[in-house]
Amino acid sequence: MRVPLLFVCLAVHACATVGATDTVASTDTAAKTPSAGPQLMELPTLESPKVRLPAGVRPLSYRLALTIVPGTDRFSGEIVATVQIDRPLEVLWINATQLDVTATSLFTERGERSAQAIVVDDHFVALVPRCDVAEKGSCLVSTGRQDVRLTFSGPLSRKDVDALFQVKEGDDWYAYTSFEPIDARRAFPNFDEPQFKVPWTVSLTVKAGHSALANTPQVKEEALPDGMKRVTFAASKPLPSYLVAFAVGPFEFVDAGKHGRNQTPIRIVTPKGKAGEAKWAAESSGPILAQLEAYFGSPYPYEKLDQISIQANTGAMENPGLVTYGHQTILSKPEVDTPGRQRGFASVCTHELAHQWFGDLVTMAWWDDLWLNEAFATWMTPRILEKWQPTWAMDVAQVNRRHGALGSDAMVNARQIRQPIVSNDDIANAFDGITYGKGASVIGMFENWMGRETFQKGVRAYLEKHAWRNATAADFLESISVAAGKDVATPFRTFLDQPGGPTIDFALSCGKGTPTLTLTQRRSLPIGSKGDAAKVWQVPVCVRWSEKGKQARACTVLTEASGTLELSGAKSCPEWVLPNDRGDGYYRASLTGPLSLADVYRKAGTALSTPERIALLGDVSALVRSGDLDAAVMLELATLAAKETDRHVFGYALGFASIPGGDLLPEALRPKHEAFVRELFSKRLEAIGFDPKATDDEDLRLLRPQLIATLGRVGKDRTVLAKAREAAARWLDDRKAIHPDLLDVTLGLAGEAGDAAFHERVLAVARKETDRGDRGRLLGALAELPDATLVAKQLPLILTDAFETRESMRLLWGAAGDFRTRGLALDFARTHWDELIIRLPKDSGAGLVWLAGGVCTESEQANARSFFEGRSTRYLGGPRTFALAMENMELCVAFRARQRASMISFFEKRGAAKPIGPAR
Ligand SMILES: [Zn+2]
Repeated sequence: MRVPLLFVCLAVHACATVGATDTVASTDTAAKTPSAGPQLMELPTLESPKVRLPAGVRPLSYRLALTIVPGTDRFSGEIVATVQIDRPLEVLWINATQLDVTATSLFTERGERSAQAIVVDDHFVALVPRCDVAEKGSCLVSTGRQDVRLTFSGPLSRKDVDALFQVKEGDDWYAYTSFEPIDARRAFPNFDEPQFKVPWTVSLTVKAGHSALANTPQVKEEALPDGMKRVTFAASKPLPSYLVAFAVGPFEFVDAGKHGRNQTPIRIVTPKGKAGEAKWAAESSGPILAQLEAYFGSPYPYEKLDQISIQANTGAMENPGLVTYGHQTILSKPEVDTPGRQRGFASVCTHELAHQWFGDLVTMAWWDDLWLNEAFATWMTPRILEKWQPTWAMDVAQVNRRHGALGSDAMVNARQIRQPIVSNDDIANAFDGITYGKGASVIGMFENWMGRETFQKGVRAYLEKHAWRNATAADFLESISVAAGKDVATPFRTFLDQPGGPTIDFALSCGKGTPTLTLTQRRSLPIGSKGDAAKVWQVPVCVRWSEKGKQARACTVLTEASGTLELSGAKSCPEWVLPNDRGDGYYRASLTGPLSLADVYRKAGTALSTPERIALLGDVSALVRSGDLDAAVMLELATLAAKETDRHVFGYALGFASIPGGDLLPEALRPKHEAFVRELFSKRLEAIGFDPKATDDEDLRLLRPQLIATLGRVGKDRTVLAKAREAAARWLDDRKAIHPDLLDVTLGLAGEAGDAAFHERVLAVARKETDRGDRGRLLGALAELPDATLVAKQLPLILTDAFETRESMRLLWGAAGDFRTRGLALDFARTHWDELIIRLPKDSGAGLVWLAGGVCTESEQANARSFFEGRSTRYLGGPRTFALAMENMELCVAFRARQRASMISFFEKRGAAKPIGPAR
């Protein structure tokens, strides 16, 4: 943005005195009137940089001092940036957002000067030395190494969960930070780009009774007047601004011991009274760290490892030495802990600790290479956990991740893994399923293609070469190509630099000679998509087949639109062909010719591994989405998969049988669908029992809530619903009344079956509940209420102080997720948009468009478009999020038009629904 040429004249003593400047906002600069004394130099024309800071200035180190008192409304601080300046400057640009810069000094050719800090837009402040007219031409910011000093203050937000913010737990306030990607500039002015990796020396002035934490160990503590103290931390290793972190409050510390090659001390940091909830985090972090060191062949790179709970439902952040987690991930009361929660923490912890190498030790040079952080940490998680916990079926997790990523990738508005960054919106949008899931799946595919050991050598070489510095995609691809002794970069780039994923049609021909597959690739696109299918990737492909009970494998790299793959060694037409051996190719497979995917599923049976069966079922569902197959195929496969004993395959049966959910079927057919679900799954629940037993293994414990949820929610099983309602009623008085494995599902189903009395009771208990976990569960139950009158009654609570809005928004999302109450939720959002925006964290408006995510008619879509366009698009990342939500709605309408008839016909052919039987 351009700022008009202005004259700003101030008294000469202000020019000569360091530290007496006000931040000048561009909008009100013109209101300043000249004072007496020598006239100051004319301000240069200020044209704000676009996204990035201009070249020619780079920080070498920072000294940062902040005063943070949780419970107050503002923080304050001073930062001294030692910078290297390449050429004389009229203006020195720095990033700062919503900060009041009250004093600035820098060095000019005429010595140290105060400077005006001029806010030019939301992200940039111009520092212009104060010089008088007589000095014209000789008062530029000088070149070489110098200190730039800024004093500032900013708001200590009570509603945000990024930048520098505070959260109340019990009677105490706690301050935390979360800076990735561009929120460090909201906490202190700095050169806020990942390429600037430098040492930071931080000191925090806090209340004497509080603890203060930063990336590095504390080296000094000094008592100050008025019940305050100053805590100084060791200078950090080179860090970009987005990895700087601190926390202040009356914390408790759980010592998790010393781990790894350098005996790194690990602690779990909790708010007051919560140390008892950190048991699993304390037990699991050390072994995970040791596994990572073994893979990378190098020690954890930092001096200490604190892992801290933020008392809000947030994600996690990999700050070196001070990793943050939402409380729901890292803490759990031992008596309600579950295998699902424990595995969830282990996965997130592995991801964050993998970042200590991928991201922290070696950092992307710019946000277009965010995948070098996120795709790698995501890919690394199963690689570590499969060693540490071999029974956790991480191979299944990888296939599921590939399935999800290919789903996201089918959108026309999908990003590339390596998407050019031309705006701050692009930076915000980079944190998506493409960067994480597609990136990780593509890495996994090439890892398997190269061989895992060879790939590991490439990874180690890359980390060693770029340690403590920045790197790009080209650097990484070079390292793995060297390790492989072949060009991996060219095929890899076909996935990195273009959006979408391939569907490969495998046509089997068994004429004379060796049976052969003809492979044809196209972009995988759902019904109704406006995307161009004519795209080509270089895809490593491996198939496996069985001939007379003997299995064999063949591989190729499909580099053109079509190609062939001989089933070499095969003498006759195979009994079955699996077109994605091991399920690790990043492509959808479709079979044509004498065999269909459903045939392969039936014929191969347990000759296919669990990940392979899941990959195959995932591809069937994608082919139903793309219109290559009828939806009835999924329902038929559900009846087969429902007989599987394997929890993961059985989980697909649950999902497939639930496909005609919501209002997709006409009302008259819904009882038949419900009966279908009960017929498929009731016997399994009878066999394993509704109530957990001490002898259950973890697989059974993880399966049971899934099964109960489907029977209750989709099958409307009256026995299951009645049990849930009774158990929930007991739990409201006695928190031990429900086994922890069934707590969330039981309360959710009780909400689904809830009436006015239930609503009133749960709400009364929720209002008094002091425990965040239980309060979340109670709000979760209310969010499931299907009754429009009750939903209309509870939505206004979001706009009161009955609950934190971050928590009570669950009521709105729940209502929006159910076709029976979606209209109400959208009306509420339309009527109260401005009030919601004020109460929610910064830029939440972008994601609110997903309230309309389930919309599946053209008229509703038009309404959603006209409301959200120009509203949700105003916030960071909003334009692409809006486009994706709109595309999603269009695809839903098209899917319904194409596949509804197939589902109707499937259920019409079935007999009358069996009576449900009396509720117990
Ligand atoms: Zn990450």
